[in-house]
Amino acid sequence: MSVQTARISALETYDIRFPTSRELDGSDAMNPDPDYSAAYLVLRTDASDEPEGHGFVFTIGRGNDIQVAAIEALRPYVVGRRVDELCADPGALARDLNNDSQLRWLGPEKGIMHMAVGAVVNAVWDLAAKRARKPLWKLLADAEPEWLVSQIDFRYLSDALTEQDALELLRRGHEGRQEREWQLTERGFPAYTTQPGWLGYSDEKLSRLAKEAVADGFRQIKLKVGDDLDDDIRRCRTARSVIGPEIRMAIDANQRWDVDEAITWTRALAEFEPYWIEEPTSPDDVLGHAAVRRAVTPVKVATGEHVQNRVVFKQLLQAGSIDIPGCARQVFAEQIPGLARRHSQRTERLCSALASVGLALAGRARARIVRVIGISVGRSRVLRLGNALPEPEVDAPRVVGVEIEPAAPSTCCPTGRHPAWRAGTPHGRGDSQRAARGRAGSATHRRNARQRR
Ligand SMILES: [Mg+2]
Repeated sequence: MSVQTARISALETYDIRFPTSRELDGSDAMNPDPDYSAAYLVLRTDASDEPEGHGFVFTIGRGNDIQVAAIEALRPYVVGRRVDELCADPGALARDLNNDSQLRWLGPEKGIMHMAVGAVVNAVWDLAAKRARKPLWKLLADAEPEWLVSQIDFRYLSDALTEQDALELLRRGHEGRQEREWQLTERGFPAYTTQPGWLGYSDEKLSRLAKEAVADGFRQIKLKVGDDLDDDIRRCRTARSVIGPEIRMAIDANQRWDVDEAITWTRALAEFEPYWIEEPTSPDDVLGHAAVRRAVTPVKVATGEHVQNRVVFKQLLQAGSIDIPGCARQVFAEQIPGLARRHSQRTERLCSALASVGLALAGRARARIVRVIGISVGRSRVLRLGNALPEPEVDAPRVVGVEIEPAAPSTCCPTGRHPAWRAGTPHGRGDSQRAARGRAGSATHRRNARQRR
């Protein structure tokens, strides 16, 4: 069968979970015993010379099966469709899936169904890049502004950013693009690491890993906070004493606080000069974030990991609620208007969670790379790298230490290569029981981990 007439023949799903709660990797104040997981999908075609498209949704254990079911609900929308048409216009598929007249009731554009749409559309992006024999970041960085803009749904955004605004921004970004790509591939892209700062780690482990992070070249680490103030003061002091005054230290409360509590707590940690406070309160509280930001300056406010969609991001930026937008839970093309808006506001800092279960593959790292190449280079842009967590082998742009290396011509995400991957298993509830055995650095954290089981 020729490439031109190939069709999607199957959408396969996998329930993949890692027992990260055994060592409290990934633990934070709101999620004390996560089992990092992926609701994974593979798009197959009926042509032997066509690649596969891979995508997934990140979860932290229970509910991964529900997320898989949501992806499977989208199977009829892609199986049987022409591969060339899908890959020529993934944005059209995103619109179709987001606006299905009945499934839309389950969102709209939020929650499990929206993440399922993101996974399926990202699998099509993966397929498109493989067919083009390029890494996805390269496919997008090379794309013409007109085509990129055509991938965006501007409904609900045009009061803040019009199609023409985005087009002009991307056209301006064309200037110097090759030079920026060269800089990126030659010099790398700075990353920070949360590896030392998981809340369940002992002070000894925090110190050791913080020291190792600096030795490995990281210029920024991040600590999870928000469970117990005395613990946080001690841990921040420990970390700062190890990394010294020059290395940035960010803190992340994972939505643990009320607005007033966020302000009080962040001020109490200000002596350790945190660069940003991440997710200080509910991800839906646009005005709450603005109040926190006004009160804790010069500490910056970051959020995005649980921001449901482009409309909430628009409001966060309109209300001056955040300094540092991160991205998640979005189909790649959704991020483009966000970046345009950020750029137009001179919001110069971007960061990204790249930590868990190969999230680079979900497009976050690529989105950052594309922005740098397509828009501009910002010295303060930084990726998050969680190198303690199981990371599948990838031939997408690699983040190594503080550098991203150029990629091979594929974005393949091979299921099951990493020995820690296990598919189709029930939730490892027993894994988290180890959280109570005394390895955690915080007594409060251990107590909370027990209570939440
Ligand atoms: Mg976070």
